[in-house]
Amino acid sequence: MARLNRIRRIDPVSRLAEVEAGVVNADLQAALARYGLFYPPDPASHRISTLGGNLAENSGGPHCVRYGVTTHHVVELEVVLADGTRLTLPPARDWQPVLGDLTGVVVGSEGTLAVITAATVALTPLPPVTRTLLAAFPGVESALEAVAALIAARIWPATLELLDQRSVEMVERFVHAGYPVGAGAVLLAEVEGDPEGAGREADRVAALFRQAGALSVRLAADAAEAARLWAGRRAHYGAAARLAPHIWIQDVTVPRPALAAMMREALAIGDRYGLPVVTAAHAGDGNLHPAFPYDPEDPGSVSRLKAADRAVLEACVRLGGAITGEHGVGIDKRDNLPLMYAPHELALMRGVREVFDPGARRLNPGKALPDGPLPGPDPRPVERPPARALETPTDASEAADLIAWAAARYRRLAIRGAGTRAGPAAGDLVLSTRGLTGIPDFDPANLTVEVEAGVTAAALQARLAEAGLELPPLADARPEETVGGLVAARARCWGLGFGADWRDLLLAVEWVDGRGLRYRFGRKTMKNVAGYDLVHLAPGSRGRLGLFTRLTLRLLPRREPQAAARVRGPAPVLLAWALDQARARLRPAGLLLLRQGPEAVLYLRLAGPETPALLRSLPGTAGAAGLAWETTAPEEVAAATRRWHHLRAAALAAGRYREGGGRRGRCRGCWRRPGRPPWPCSPPPGPGRSTARDQPPPPAGCGKRAAPGGGQGPRPGSPWKHAWQPSSTPGGSSPPPGRGRHDPGHRRPDRHRPLQPLRLLPAGLPHLPPHRRGAP
Ligand SMILES: Cc1cc2nc3c(=O)[nH]c(=O)nc-3n(C[C@H](O)[C@H](O)[C@H](O)COP(=O)(O)OP(=O)(O)OC[C@H]3O[C@@H](n4cnc5c(N)ncnc54)[C@H](O)[C@@H]3O)c2cc1C
Repeated sequence: MARLNRIRRIDPVSRLAEVEAGVVNADLQAALARYGLFYPPDPASHRISTLGGNLAENSGGPHCVRYGVTTHHVVELEVVLADGTRLTLPPARDWQPVLGDLTGVVVGSEGTLAVITAATVALTPLPPVTRTLLAAFPGVESALEAVAALIAARIWPATLELLDQRSVEMVERFVHAGYPVGAGAVLLAEVEGDPEGAGREADRVAALFRQAGALSVRLAADAAEAARLWAGRRAHYGAAARLAPHIWIQDVTVPRPALAAMMREALAIGDRYGLPVVTAAHAGDGNLHPAFPYDPEDPGSVSRLKAADRAVLEACVRLGGAITGEHGVGIDKRDNLPLMYAPHELALMRGVREVFDPGARRLNPGKALPDGPLPGPDPRPVERPPARALETPTDASEAADLIAWAAARYRRLAIRGAGTRAGPAAGDLVLSTRGLTGIPDFDPANLTVEVEAGVTAAALQARLAEAGLELPPLADARPEETVGGLVAARARCWGLGFGADWRDLLLAVEWVDGRGLRYRFGRKTMKNVAGYDLVHLAPGSRGRLGLFTRLTLRLLPRREPQAAARVRGPAPVLLAWALDQARARLRPAGLLLLRQGPEAVLYLRLAGPETPALLRSLPGTAGAAGLAWETTAPEEVAAATRRWHHLRAAALAAGRYREGGGRRGRCRGCWRRPGRPPWPCSPPPGPGRSTARDQPPPPAGCGKRAAPGGGQGPRPGSPWKHAWQPSSTPGGSSPPPGRGRHDPGHRRPDRHRPLQPLRLLPAGLPHLPPHRRGAP
């Protein structure tokens, strides 16, 4: 892919970049830095690895603890399939994916499902200030106690890197980074924020480190000192490579509280097999890299290495982890996947591969999955389950029995959570999740919770509030709604930034398919690239995968203080103002704009330390723009969101609304051609309009949308154009040949043009071009 090396476009306003697959990660970062932006995934190999490789491996890096991994920053993928078809996959944040989040599945598939040729990725503003600390501890245990203390104090550092004793000595001998030789372990931490906030946070971190028994804590005085400290961490592999003719670097991930146990296991395994292991870990996300020096010319050394390697993988699975967190499966770990997955789960992954690359012959054959059968015949039918289980199974095995029984009799099943959204049951049997109400694993130290699908929003929220944690999309849920239903509907994800969408928060899911087979994908770990990421098929699947029985969710520290506001005014003025807020460095946690006749109302949710500053500045800027600002109760915002969803559901049911279709009606040319005037297309026809109040505004696309005063198109130079059409930027490059033509379909009156509510998502996601299929 080396020649696919263009950064096609950087749009600092929408915080998007369109990048070809062969662009080296560090080159993209350098180009973005000019705009005060960065692309968060930063594998240690960022100077040599490409965006395509990062996407194919779902790469992580030291900053994942705060920003998530590659999949959380992908907006759209341009791929070539095994038969040569060029395709742009549906955007990762498509609300109502027809086939599930295919982009999420292709990311991390190691080039076995498609060749990625380009990607649109979301960008993040560079933090104003970063403070770097290095703390020395008597041992790994005390260092990990310090990590636990940070998490318990709800501090969310940007990085938390750990080196064990041997690593500290080895690295210091190699690069003289100023690491304290003799320490049992060191932690390298970074905190970010405005100058005052980052300073305060660094002081808190240092105090917690000392309380946890740190021997010394050093705060880098300037960028040069911080770079020196980082040089030590980054030299880990290079230094380890000097220990022996060869070094074998393992990559496993465990729930964070199990990290100390995993490090002890790795040491014990090294001792058992006579291999002096050295370990570095991304301590914030439970991902560790034990490195075993060995001699490839010595058959004894090689066989001991193989045994040690297998023992490490078995230990990590025993501790609830995944056999690879970020380096992938490739050929080496292919035959170890059965440690994590049952035969039918692997068969399902092979089934997915079969869809993309029949026979698995063309794309990276032999990689990523072990050989084996495709999904097999239906399981043997079971006896009729007890009557109670017909309505409300109380565990996954009861649900599996019921579904297998029903499948054998060709009965159709309708899945029901609280029933707040599902219409009349369309099945012969209604399968309710009301009996699945347990919270089997609430782990604040790992920032995860595992719930059964029928747990209500109120029950979960109460549990999280006690621990000072939150799941942002729960804020708008009705108390009786179930977590399984909310995830299946991908409900009400309108917040800004990482963590606002169920897609970012779902770490693992267990479901029973339509034949009664139980599947579990994902683990309670922040990183996991073992096998295909089928977890991403779940949000928005609306029962098509089967019945969710358990879901494991990533929790976030509750952002305090929280506030809400309502702003009213003429729709275009309000939209322009809202977009300015969405793009500002200090921005609200969520913005939801709904039209009410010629007027519009914007609901704002504010959360986190920036709330007081926003409450001071926003009323003034709103007033200056002629808008009416009122602070309001968060419950009012939640009620407005629910009302809007209710209307949307009603419009859907009446066929007046097609989901996810804002993009389908949009003119590709407008998006592709910087500075192009809005396409003079005719407005969407009237029949599809709802007359209800709080009606979502019509879809936005090429700029020819609802106009001032409820008209049908923007005036030249109106803020609507600005809203939907990224401006030309110095870093943007011209579109590739063949692109940028107006889509003729855009001229046609589209009877199904949806009522697209304006949700202001991070990085201006509504700019996305339509899902398209090109010629081979
Ligand atoms: C010293 C070192 C440190 C590392 N640190 C990290 C780290 O911190 N975090 C991390 O996640 N990983 C890390 N890695 C692993 C590796 O660098 C990453 O996985 C990286 O993303 C691979 O990118 P690449 O361009 O080198 O891809 P390659 O190694 O060339 O390819 C990786 C896989 O992706 C496939 N592939 C490549 N490009 C495409 C494409 N365009 N379309 C489809 N498939 C494609 C290839 O076929 C191959 O299967 C490290 C590796 C090394 C050597």
